[in-house]
Amino acid sequence: MNLDGKVALVTGGSRGIGAATALRLAEAGADVVLTYAVNAEQAAVVVDRIKALGRRALAVGADSADSAAVEAAVEAAVAEFGRLDVLVNNAGVGFVGPLEQTGMDDVDRVLAVNVRGVLAATKAAAAHLREGGRVITIGSCVTDRVPGPGMVLYAVSKSAMVGLTKALARELAPNGVTVNLVHPGPTDTDMNPADGPYAADQASMTAVGRYGKPEEVADTVAFLASPASAYLTASIISVDGGHAA
Ligand code: NDP
Repeated sequence: MNLDGKVALVTGGSRGIGAATALRLAEAGADVVLTYAVNAEQAAVVVDRIKALGRRALAVGADSADSAAVEAAVEAAVAEFGRLDVLVNNAGVGFVGPLEQTGMDDVDRVLAVNVRGVLAATKAAAAHLREGGRVITIGSCVTDRVPGPGMVLYAVSKSAMVGLTKALARELAPNGVTVNLVHPGPTDTDMNPADGPYAADQASMTAVGRYGKPEEVADTVAFLASPASAYLTASIISVDGGHAA
């Protein structure tokens, strides 16, 4: 996978799957801009690690619920590095709770980050993506298989990414831009630690019987970002250890 000369923007790149993805894209040769919500220190650590690889990197504080901030992050990437080739829509928030105890403020917050924020980033990025451009979104295995109760709001937010991916693939194909979706299974991050209270159940639902590592999701994202994936668009790729089987 060769991303030499490419510029990638990873939303939510300060921790977890986003941080692993930012580093993997940099290892493959890309310069990387990452956004974060609050964790500037952790974002700076990722930036330093990318720079140590000999790539350029920039961290931009941009809460995905704030569409103006998201658009500004996209413009900062283009202003700083002169182009944009890859958008990874990774930033997301989890939510667990039965619908009857879910407030409309919860609905607004989760949809603002997981759906509206993705639309804002994608719309802003699409204006800059050219032939060979890539939009890669991180959805969730709950879109394929809901493991139990309490997942309505989160599943709604992540299922919207299926519609985004398929519809946008049609819109951007004439520009030579592909649009794909990655569905991680249970992946060991702050959001879903492999030693958390529900981890054993989640691991047991996979075919391989274990959590994934953020780097295992990042490897698939890097493939989708690369020229080798040119004939994949509107595809949904599960990196879930067989969770959907
Ligand atoms: P983490 O909570 O470990 O990391 C989340 C990252 O996103 C951080 O960099 C965080 O920034 C950033 N972020 C959170 N909220 C916002 C926001 N409002 N605006 C901008 N950035 C934000 O999450 P994961 O790495 O586990 O999850 C990454 C993606 O993968 C999410 O979309 C999640 O839904 C999805 N996913 C995760 C699974 C898992 O098992 N872990 C399974 C399936 C899907 P900061 O450091 O500033 O807080």
